[in-house]
Amino acid sequence: TSFGFRTVKTDEKARLVRGVFDSVASKYDLMNDLMSGGIHRVWKAVLTDRIMPRPGEHLLDVAGGTGDVAASFLSRADTRPGADTKPRATATLCDINFEMLKAGTTRSDAAAFGDRITRVTGDAETLPFADGFADAYTIAFGIRNVTHIDAALRDAYRVLKPGGRFMCLEFSHPITETMQKIYDTYSFNVIPWLGERVANDRESYQYLVESIRRFPGQEAFAAKIKNAGFTRVKYENLSGGIAAIHSGWRV
Ligand code: SAM
Repeated sequence: TSFGFRTVKTDEKARLVRGVFDSVASKYDLMNDLMSGGIHRVWKAVLTDRIMPRPGEHLLDVAGGTGDVAASFLSRADTRPGADTKPRATATLCDINFEMLKAGTTRSDAAAFGDRITRVTGDAETLPFADGFADAYTIAFGIRNVTHIDAALRDAYRVLKPGGRFMCLEFSHPITETMQKIYDTYSFNVIPWLGERVANDRESYQYLVESIRRFPGQEAFAAKIKNAGFTRVKYENLSGGIAAIHSGWRV
């Protein structure tokens, strides 16, 4: 496994976000399971289903954290018919936070892929990769934390090959008022409490809840993706809009 190092820009939000993930890195996978009741695994499985990984492809998973999306991409590519006679799919995990990447090296699913996963530190807004670097670009629960979403979307477009696809899994906005109410009660009470009890860090999880509220709605985010140059942009609500998968193609 190789680690790359890059200087990242340090404006206020970037600093804050780095602090949050430094603090939660070691408890990150456990907290995800607790907060979502394991549902984040289902959402990520839907994400990799939709990408339809193929042998020989290269995935760039940005804000990839501990690497579960990359691992799931590779295992699905390996089970495609004829995969054993074709070149293996590979993945690059890019995250601004070294601690998150490091925490992922101990995961058994990622470890099984050895050097088919490369880990690189870098900022989603100014990715340290050449134009046309990847066949597919994923970002799961990451874009919400990026300071300039539009810059990240433009850079996603740049690093994709023509014919490449962009897929973003992110928390979104519940589609009914009743769901929104239940969700608010849960997120404003249970999540900071869990953060305090399990990760000993109430503030980071408070930040998480607030950042979800501030993130653009399904339509507004789709419009941003179109603005960055992508075509056939669409989205799919998951669990009634608690999360959504947005996608687009670079032609
Ligand atoms: N994709 C993983 C998952 O679904 O479990 C990790 C998601 S985690 C909630 C968000 C990740 O975004 C963190 O690992 C954090 O370090 C990373 N991140 C935040 N801002 C970033 C940026 N500007 N560029 C790249 N990664 C960033």
